[in-house]
Parts: sequence; structure tokens; C-alpha cells
Amino acid sequence: MTKCQKIMCSVGSCIHNEGKENLCNLEAIQVSASAKSDSGAPYDETLCASYKSHHKKK
Ligand code: SF4
Repeated sequence: MTKCQKIMCSVGSCIHNEGKENLCNLEAIQVSASAKSDSGAPYDETLCASYKSHHKKK
């Protein structure tokens, strides 16, 4: 069965983010384990691997 999910996201620095609507405009994203995954805290354990910055890498 196909589910119609939304990806809610507030990461305004990502090119895929629709800031006003708090949405990601991709149909699917890759969520990956963070390099710091050892604390159990969400901000250490997981990250969006589909993120692309508005800014060019230096
Ligand atoms: S790609 Fe990831 S970080 Fe970027 S808007 Fe979508 S969910 Fe947010």
C-alpha cells in the first residue's frame, strides 16, 4: 500500500526546504547515522543525508 507522507523540515539553509511551509520539497530523503552517533541524543545520532546547502563549499 502506498502511503502519502510529507517531510516536515525547518532547515532553512537547505536548497530543498520550503521555509514558509516548514516542508522538504523532495519525494523522499535519505536519513543516515551521524558520525557522532554514540550519545543517544537525536542531534548526535541522525542527520539528513539529502541536505544541500545554499552556500557553495569552500
Ligand atoms: S533534504 Fe533534508 S535538510 Fe533538506 S529540506 Fe529536505 S529534509 Fe530538510
